[in-house]
Amino acid sequence: MTSPIAVKSADQPRHDPSRPLLAIDEPPPYAVFNPDGSSPILLLCEHASNRIPRALGDMGLPHHERQRHIAWDIGALALARHLSLSLDAPLFFTNYSRLIVDCNRPLSAPSFIPEVSETTEIPANRDLSDTERAQRIDTLFRPYAEVVARRLDLLEAEGKRPFVVGVHSFTPVYFGRQRPWHAGILYGNAIEFAQSLIRGLSDERELTIGDNEPYSIHPDEDYTVPVHADARKLPGVLLEVRHDLIDTATGVAAWGERLTHHLKSTIGAAAW
Ligand SMILES: [Zn+2]
Repeated sequence: MTSPIAVKSADQPRHDPSRPLLAIDEPPPYAVFNPDGSSPILLLCEHASNRIPRALGDMGLPHHERQRHIAWDIGALALARHLSLSLDAPLFFTNYSRLIVDCNRPLSAPSFIPEVSETTEIPANRDLSDTERAQRIDTLFRPYAEVVARRLDLLEAEGKRPFVVGVHSFTPVYFGRQRPWHAGILYGNAIEFAQSLIRGLSDERELTIGDNEPYSIHPDEDYTVPVHADARKLPGVLLEVRHDLIDTATGVAAWGERLTHHLKSTIGAAAW
């Protein structure tokens, strides 16, 4: 009798990709919050969760690694939900960790299924077979990418031009270096939209706001802005907030109100 678990190395049991990646009692790959929201903003949150499908066990990672920023954007989903309610905007978010597939990366990016994240090796991502990789894409990446694309197709078919806004958080210290920003606005082609947000936030004197910092958008490294916004000629940005500022309910409420104010004043009376 063969074991359902293929053993890749002495200490790393591997999921058998002939079996489903998600069990029937596990959450679907993505969820939608406030789906009928009336705002011209479409909110997206790709790094919302650090959940790992049971089939992948702990991915070979100790508990503390699965809790830190390499697995998810701490506070981002709470902030995105706040914005969804305060702006009355639909929100699409993923239910699984970016360590399995990163839904904000193109399939060709090495970080799409990272073998190393920051300085942490991800044992369950080492030497993936084509079948294992395809299963992750089909189970987790494609359903999310497609539901967002379908929503945008529908809005555009109605003659609407939504603002695509991704909600993210970043770690205060990366590769041992302290980052100076409280938040950043990342963008590709949507220069006017992004600069208006940066100006508004920077008017708050106590804030240091990154302009395409702490990351910049590149089609080889990003998915949401290049594909869902720039390729459709829709205005699209990512909001990045330092995660220690939104890891409490008080912080989420404060940044939620701040970003609501600046998004509303930037978009102004933009009507459908
Ligand atoms: Zn992120």
